[in-house]
Amino acid sequence: MKQNVAEVPSLRSEISREQSEAEILPREFARELGEVAVLLDIDGTLLDLAPTPREVWVPPGLAKTLNRLLEKTSGALALVSGRSLNDIDLIFAPDQFPAVGGHGAEMRLSTDGEAVATQAPPMDKELKRRLAAIAKLSPGILLEDKGYSLALHYRLAPHAEKAIYEAVSLIRADLPNAPIEVMPGKCVCEIKHSGFNKASGVTELMAHDPFKGRRPIFIGDDVTDESVFAIMPDLGGLAFSVGRRAKGVAGHFDEPRDVREWLAQLIESAPAER
Ligand SMILES: [Mg+2]
Repeated sequence: MKQNVAEVPSLRSEISREQSEAEILPREFARELGEVAVLLDIDGTLLDLAPTPREVWVPPGLAKTLNRLLEKTSGALALVSGRSLNDIDLIFAPDQFPAVGGHGAEMRLSTDGEAVATQAPPMDKELKRRLAAIAKLSPGILLEDKGYSLALHYRLAPHAEKAIYEAVSLIRADLPNAPIEVMPGKCVCEIKHSGFNKASGVTELMAHDPFKGRRPIFIGDDVTDESVFAIMPDLGGLAFSVGRRAKGVAGHFDEPRDVREWLAQLIESAPAER
């Protein structure tokens, strides 16, 4: 991301200190894989961002790494994403992973488990219709209706950012009591009901086996991951950010490739099974 590149020179000393921190960590955690829960955001964390959400690419070896982590943690690995579970499964097909989807709207506790809806209320239809019309502001704005939320992607129309947020503000001003939340992301403006978020989804997930009682390690990159960074101390866990140092994290990775390598190292360093 452009803004991160611009930040790098001034943060160089801090970054190199954190990088060495991240180099030490895999071994430390590898011994504890029987006690931790590994929670991973997908876009911008495990996978490089693509021009459109459909174009993301799963590098060879990543699914294998995730499956091995799943084994080593006795099933306590989960993807935590703004994407729906359906969408997550399409990306990683034929593999399925435990996951919190739709910013906490849905959850699946095991690879072969049923997706269960959390307490997420659906969005009002009329509101959705009005928000969807924003996509007509410019070619290149992609509308994604996730059911419980609506996303306006503008990676292909970056000039439209201001107009999108202004249009959303106008609609909100019109409906001051609507329980909705606007989530700015990387070239995406997402609007959902304010009754749930990634943090409520993770809290729910951590209350169930095999996650219950484990120490969560969460890695995420975006603004929507900050709610999860914030609850890690309460869950006795640790958070790491990607691309920038977010508030309250234990360390950070420069890019998704570093996260993938770190996870692979985690398995390499894990003690052999007896
Ligand atoms: Mg992300």
